[in-house]
Amino acid sequence: MDNDNNDASSVSERVKGIRKTLLQERQVILKEAKTEIGNFVKGDEKQLVEAALDDGDWSVVDVNEDIILQKLHHHKLKLNKIDEALRKLNDGSYGVCDDCGIEISEARLKVLPYAVHCVECKEKREKIEQVEREQSFQ
Ligand SMILES: [Zn+2]
Repeated sequence: MDNDNNDASSVSERVKGIRKTLLQERQVILKEAKTEIGNFVKGDEKQLVEAALDDGDWSVVDVNEDIILQKLHHHKLKLNKIDEALRKLNDGSYGVCDDCGIEISEARLKVLPYAVHCVECKEKREKIEQVEREQSFQ
């Protein structure tokens, strides 16, 4: 049971490093999410909600829940991306663009370790999304 994994050790070192980065990022996001929720339901807000509930006004809770959900949604999306990247690390498909199958540049992965699309495909997607947004306003 000694460290006898010298074949492809450079690859596994890289994977280890990326996994560490992803897990750290995951911790940061979870902490942010918890802090935001904690901030939101404490202090004045909490008193407002409690006072409203005493009056039987549940609409305050509905509105607040929406805001919490929106904040959580943003964090959730990012966590999903990180989990997806971790899964890809495990099955060996990490760093390959989901759309065109080419390898995502190392520079891009350094900035965005949970990227699943290369720059070109990402830009294409953003353009399509933009067009769809513009069309939905017409
Ligand atoms: Zn691509």
